[in-house]
Amino acid sequence: MSSADKLMTRDYAKAMAPFFADGVVGSWVNGAIMPGEGVDIELIDPATGKAFLTFKDAGGDVVDAAMKAAVAGQRVWWAMTAAERGRILWKIGAQVRDHLEQLALLECVSAGKPIRDTRVEVLKVAEMFEYYAGWADKLHGDVIPVPTSHLNYTRPEPYGVVTQVTPWNAPIFTAGWQLAPALCAGNAAVLKPSEMTPLTSVALGVLSKKAGLPDGVISVLAGLGHTTGVAATTHDATRKVVFVGSPKTGSVIAAQAAQNIVPCVLELGGKSANIVFEDADLKRALTGAQAAIFSGAGQSCVAGSRLLVQRSVLDQFQEMLVTGANHIPVGDPLDTATQIGPINNDAQYQTVNRLIAAGRAEGAEILAGGARPDGGACADGYFLRPTVLGNVRNDMSIARDEIFGPVVSVIPFDDEAEAIAIANDSKFGLAGAVWTGAVDRAHRVAANVRAGTFWINSYKTINVMSPFGGFAHSGYGRSSGKEGLMEYMQPKSVWTETAANPPVAFGYAPE
Ligand code: NAD
Repeated sequence: MSSADKLMTRDYAKAMAPFFADGVVGSWVNGAIMPGEGVDIELIDPATGKAFLTFKDAGGDVVDAAMKAAVAGQRVWWAMTAAERGRILWKIGAQVRDHLEQLALLECVSAGKPIRDTRVEVLKVAEMFEYYAGWADKLHGDVIPVPTSHLNYTRPEPYGVVTQVTPWNAPIFTAGWQLAPALCAGNAAVLKPSEMTPLTSVALGVLSKKAGLPDGVISVLAGLGHTTGVAATTHDATRKVVFVGSPKTGSVIAAQAAQNIVPCVLELGGKSANIVFEDADLKRALTGAQAAIFSGAGQSCVAGSRLLVQRSVLDQFQEMLVTGANHIPVGDPLDTATQIGPINNDAQYQTVNRLIAAGRAEGAEILAGGARPDGGACADGYFLRPTVLGNVRNDMSIARDEIFGPVVSVIPFDDEAEAIAIANDSKFGLAGAVWTGAVDRAHRVAANVRAGTFWINSYKTINVMSPFGGFAHSGYGRSSGKEGLMEYMQPKSVWTETAANPPVAFGYAPE
C-alpha cells in the first residue's frame, strides 16, 4: 500500500484536520476562520447520503468583515512589487503541491468525486498559481503614439475587490481557477463557494496564509447563495463579480451586480455536441465520448451530452458505447479503481432522474443505465449507472436542457451540414468536438460550430494557459490564459505634456 493509499478512509475529521486545526468550520476572513451567524447548513457525503458536518451560514456581518479586510488587504498587496506578488503566488502553488493528498482526500469525501480525479484537479490548482506567478511581473501597459505633443501610456490596474461565486461540481478547481488570476492582477478576492462544498476552498485560504499572503487578500465565505452570496455580490466594496454556475443564477447575479454598476464574467452551463463522423477512428472516438460525458459523473459544464453520430456507423458506435457504459467502474469515490462516483447532492440526483423519465416519455430509449447500480458501495448515496439514451431527436428536452449527470443522448445525422446545424441548434455555446480522419472537415466543423472551446479528435483537454468561456447562454467573458487575466484588470490612460511651449488651445493666457 502506498503512503497515499493509507490516507484513504472515510474519516471526515481526519480529512479536515490539516486545514481546520481546532475542528471549527466557518469562513476564512482576515487570515483566520470566522464562524457564521446564520442558519445551520449540513454537509452531506454524496457517497452515503448522510450528513457529516454542520456549520452556520456566514451572513451579512461576516460578509462585511471580509469586504473590509479585502479593501485593507488589497492596499497592502498592490503596494508590494509585482515580483513579490509573483513569489507569493508561486508559494501558494507549492503549498497546494505539499498538501495534494490531503486536499484530494477532503475534496473526495466532501464532494463525492473519485480520488483519481481529485488528485488531478488539485494538481491543476497548483499549476494555476504557478502559471499566474509567472505573469505577475510581466504585466505592463503600452506607450501610444498619439498625434499630439503628449506622452500617453497605459497602466493595467486591478479592480480592487472582486467577488467570485463558484459551484459544487469542481470546488477547488474553480476556486483556484479564479483566485490565481485575480491575485496576479493585484486584486483582493472574496470567494463564495457552493454551500454544499465549501471545505477545500476554505482550505485554500488557510494555505495562502502559510505561503505569506497578507491577511484579507483572500477571503472565503462559507454560506448560502440567497443570503451570503447576495450580500457579497451587492456589497459596495465589490468592483467586479465573476460567477461560475448555472445560467439561471448567472442572470440573477448579473442583475444584482448591475445595481452597483459592477461588471461580470459569467461562466455558465452547456449542452455540448460531440460529433462522430464515419471516417473517424471509432475506438478513439469511443474513449473520447465516454470521457466527455461520464467522467465526473457528467457533472461537468463541458460534458459532451449530445453525441451526434453519422448514420452509417450509428448501430456500430452505439453498441460500442453501450458496452463501454456497462463496464465503467461505478463506486466508492475513495476507491482508486472508481471512475464514476455519486452525483453530488440529492436535488441534482432527483433532477437527473426526472430528466431521464421526461426523455423516455418523449420517446427516447434507454440503451444502458438509467438506474442505480446494484448494491455494494452504491447501495446508499446518489449513484446512477452511466446512461445511454437512443432514439433521441434534438427537439426533445433531454437534448435541450443541461442534465448535469452521466447521461448521453445519441442523435444521428447524415452529412456535415446537418451535423453542424444540429450542433448549433442549442441556446448554449460552451464546447464541442469532432472526430474525423479528414483534416479539412475537422477545421471546417471547428470554424462553424458556435462554442467557446472546440476539440478535434479529443475531448475535455483544457489548460490554464488557454482561454475558456462561453458563447450565448453559456456566458460571457473569459477565464484562464492571458484573456482570463485581462478580466481582472482595467487600463488607465495617462497623458503628460512634453512640449516646452504648449500651444494655448483655449481660454485666458496670463502675461
Ligand atoms: P448554481 O447556479 O445553483 O450555484 C452556483 C453558486 O451560486 C453557488 O455558490 C450558490 O450558492 C450561488 N448563488 C445562488 N444564488 C445566488 C445569488 N442570488 N447571489 C449570489 N450567489 C448565489 O450552480 P450549481 O448548481 O452550483 O452548479 C452547476 C452549474 O454550474 C451547471 O450549470 C454547470 O454547467 C455550471 N458550471 C459552469 C462552469 C463553466 O466554467 N462554464 C464550470 C462549472 C460549472
